[in-house]
Amino acid sequence: MKRIYMDHNATTPLREAVLETMLPYLRDQFGNASSLHFFGMQARAAIEAAREQVATALGAQPDEIVFTGCGTESDNQAIKGVAWANRDRGNHIVTSSIEHKAVMETCRYLEAQGFQVTYLPVDRYGMVSPDAVAGAITDRTVLVSVMFANNEVGTIQPIAEIGQVCRERGVTFHTDAIQAVGKLPIDVTDLGVDMLSLSAHKLYGPKGVGALYVREGVHADPLLHGGQQEGRRRAATENVAGIVGLGKAIELQVEDMASEAERLTALRERLYAGLAARIDHVHRNGHPTRCLPGTLDVSFEYVEGEAIILGLDLAGVAVSSGSACTSASPEPSHVLLAMGVEPTSAQGSVRFSLGHENTAADVDYVVETLPPIIERLRAMSVLTPQPSFHETASAQ
Ligand code: PLP
Repeated sequence: MKRIYMDHNATTPLREAVLETMLPYLRDQFGNASSLHFFGMQARAAIEAAREQVATALGAQPDEIVFTGCGTESDNQAIKGVAWANRDRGNHIVTSSIEHKAVMETCRYLEAQGFQVTYLPVDRYGMVSPDAVAGAITDRTVLVSVMFANNEVGTIQPIAEIGQVCRERGVTFHTDAIQAVGKLPIDVTDLGVDMLSLSAHKLYGPKGVGALYVREGVHADPLLHGGQQEGRRRAATENVAGIVGLGKAIELQVEDMASEAERLTALRERLYAGLAARIDHVHRNGHPTRCLPGTLDVSFEYVEGEAIILGLDLAGVAVSSGSACTSASPEPSHVLLAMGVEPTSAQGSVRFSLGHENTAADVDYVVETLPPIIERLRAMSVLTPQPSFHETASAQ
């Protein structure tokens, strides 16, 4: 059976060119970048070249890039690091109610440590209002953390406007841009962002490596203590092959970003139009235009998202409900609930996230395959409204 992967927000396949760039660092060029000899210098040079690649992609300076072990670590480093380093100035953090768990749970942990966190509401498209950010900031606020683009529904936040608010109020602004980097143009200076998290495996790079942009002058305590790597900002021997892979992956993503965004947006619209034309009672979740090019979240009334996922998987199509980390949990997505989606609709939601390998033929296959699956599930579902007694009686 042909397998169609439409779950690129969960993870992406490694690009062949990225793998090729990494291989020498998994074989012969195995040095520890802190060593003073030839092997160490080889590794150091490779890391610094990757740092330049990442910095260039973000409009940052190379020494403002810290390599980490994943996106989750970047988020933890930014939020805990700033909170701990600025404890004497204040204990208040502003974030949104639709963040990924990497941000949400970090904030909850800090709450348990005595910090105060404001979780801003969103509108029905999942959008945070810059005015609400301004209204939430107090003289005790040390950090605002609002994600760039949502991993479930794809809504893109007004980052420049939030950056402006934070700049005016002198508050450090972090954005979890893990779903946005390589898909949307990003310039940290234009956007007024002080810290930005990214992760290689979301942009056709390897798993287990991420980066955090930290604007010069921003104070953050390290998460890991030990050696003096990464300018004393992250102790640990660097994952040279992973870092080299991240550098190459981000460079390649940015190269064809505009054309790929256009192609994926067209595929996303074809998919939604096809499904909406063939299936009743479907709703699109998220902003229809201010949205990640390849992300489409749809609620199918009267069915469980998990049942749809299993049905599609049997037909060879891989999709997700909610974020990958929560897809095994039966609870409706906190993102959809925050957007005001009814819990039963939220439970029937499916996220399609398209990527490089997807074609119009893949989309058409899903558009053909899904309607009978939904029909079958609705026929079995107790949630499906039954014909009224009156309708049944008159039909007899
Ligand atoms: N933040 C967002 C928005 C994400 O989508 C993800 C991954 O799903 C993460 C954070 C966590 O990144 P990682 O898997 O690299 O730890």
